[in-house]
Amino acid sequence: TEEKSLNFIEQIIEEDLKNGLSSDKLRFRFPPEPNGYLHIGHASSIALNFGLGLDYNAPVNLRFDDTNPAKEEQEFVDAIKRDVQWLGYQWAEERYASDYFQQLYNWTIEFIKKGKAYVDSQSSEEMAAQKGTPSTPGTDSPYRNRSVEENLDLFERMKNGEFEEGTHILRAKIDMKSTNMLMRDPIIYRILKRHHHRTGNDWCIYPMYDWAHGESDYIEQISHSFCTLEFLPHRELYDWFLDQIYDENKVRPKQREFARRNLSHTVVSKRKLAQLVSENHVNGWDDPRMSTISGLRRRGYTAAALRNFANGIGIAKRDNLIDVSLLEFYIREDLNKTAPRVMAVLDPVKLVITNYPQEKEEWLDAENNPEDESAGFRKVPFSREIYIEREDFMEDAPSKFFRLSLGKEVRLKNAYIIKGENVIKDADGNITEIHATYDTQSLSGSGTEASQRKVSGTLHWVSIAHAISAEVRLYDRLFTDEAPDSHKEKDFLEFVNPDSLKVVTGFVEPSLKEAKNEDKFQFQRLGYFTVDKDSTSEKLVFNKTVGLKDDWAE
Ligand code: ATP
Ligand code: MG
Ligand code: MG
Repeated sequence: TEEKSLNFIEQIIEEDLKNGLSSDKLRFRFPPEPNGYLHIGHASSIALNFGLGLDYNAPVNLRFDDTNPAKEEQEFVDAIKRDVQWLGYQWAEERYASDYFQQLYNWTIEFIKKGKAYVDSQSSEEMAAQKGTPSTPGTDSPYRNRSVEENLDLFERMKNGEFEEGTHILRAKIDMKSTNMLMRDPIIYRILKRHHHRTGNDWCIYPMYDWAHGESDYIEQISHSFCTLEFLPHRELYDWFLDQIYDENKVRPKQREFARRNLSHTVVSKRKLAQLVSENHVNGWDDPRMSTISGLRRRGYTAAALRNFANGIGIAKRDNLIDVSLLEFYIREDLNKTAPRVMAVLDPVKLVITNYPQEKEEWLDAENNPEDESAGFRKVPFSREIYIEREDFMEDAPSKFFRLSLGKEVRLKNAYIIKGENVIKDADGNITEIHATYDTQSLSGSGTEASQRKVSGTLHWVSIAHAISAEVRLYDRLFTDEAPDSHKEKDFLEFVNPDSLKVVTGFVEPSLKEAKNEDKFQFQRLGYFTVDKDSTSEKLVFNKTVGLKDDWAE
């Protein structure tokens, strides 16, 4: 068996196992805040945590970090669950930080009794002015030495809704001189008179992330709490909070950090994605141009491709930008194996085969997938009038033009060899019809000498009488800049690509009539396409997932 080299996260776990942590105590979690849809960056964290669960046969919880009712909604909870499941992972338990509000409150009362927390009644400006800077110490709040009794009384009244938002907060009493700014008496609770999507109006004080997160890990007995690098300075506070409540007989969770994954030509931040949605730069969270899991899914990405991408890039210790072409590599790799090949013409020009009988039609054999023998064959209709791509014809072509021109021969995929004869143009000189003749003996697969003749190219086509028209949505990158949110003087929205969506009416072969939402195809020579959720039996709608790297050659 092959020795798998361990990444630094696995090394941490192995080290802990070696130092006596029993492997049945391993437990992980994926902790999204339900304030938006999951994006491709989250896929890395999901693949990491659920992947560890599979590798170590350990449970992985899905924990909603729902401590800010101003931003969180049930719609996001539902979307996150759907996306994690669609990616192919199953959580052990579905948990919510809000499940622990009472426990967190009880612990907080103990803190206050031990003199470890106090109610501060200053304005946020006053508190900010006392924070100091990383190189200068902060100043103690005048409320820092309030008596335990007064703190207990005020905190209870905060909880009971007696005070307005912003009038009082509860702070941990740690160290206003710490070199870590987060340790300078951080906020534990603030008043928020908001309806919470799960706890309704039960609470009007809500715990801050740092207080809720580590304690939720502790309650769930998570052994390893992996988060992104921006939480590195939070680790000291995570540990400080645990120190206050930790029971030696229990597993003490360990926070460790890995690098955020950024993808080129897009943004991976729920806040920024939310802005794209609310300001109508895109049509919703699942717009196929979005970097959300649901957007990529609608675009035609498969769960396998996203998993392979996340696992392929692995985890890193430094933040980095992954080129979107790598993501495209993984979807091509998957669809090349699985997507049936069909013919579609997206920029049609009419071609008449003048020596093919008027009323005749033939149903020709077409291979569904050369990468997968079991996919078999289907029939495609052929007749005297077909559409080909406008760019596949040139009247006076240079010798390197391996498509159709006058006097030159090409093969029609799955059908015959044709020769360009002449063109018909409108008053402006645009070609409206191409006339060609076909070699009656040249049918693909017929085994005749004529069928084996080498011609300069192979074109896809559809029979006009049989084709189905379809709306086809072609996408370009959503941002013109590689890292739109990396510019100091410019807002990321300035880089939105105004031409990221182009809608065309194309024609597809009739075998696609029954195609269903999310069915995936290779439109030969054009790329991979998937049926959009807007598709109906009256009107097919396709999204272009990605182009082909190479044109196929027959
Ligand atoms: P966002 O800024 O998009 O809201 P977040 O980190 O605030 O991201 P959470 O819902 O808190 O979003 O994230 C859940 C988990 O996913 C966290 O552990 C977080 O560190 C991780 N995560 C988020 N974005 C990325 C990313 N780009 N790469 C890797 N992991 C990520
Ligand atoms: Mg977060
Ligand atoms: Mg966030």
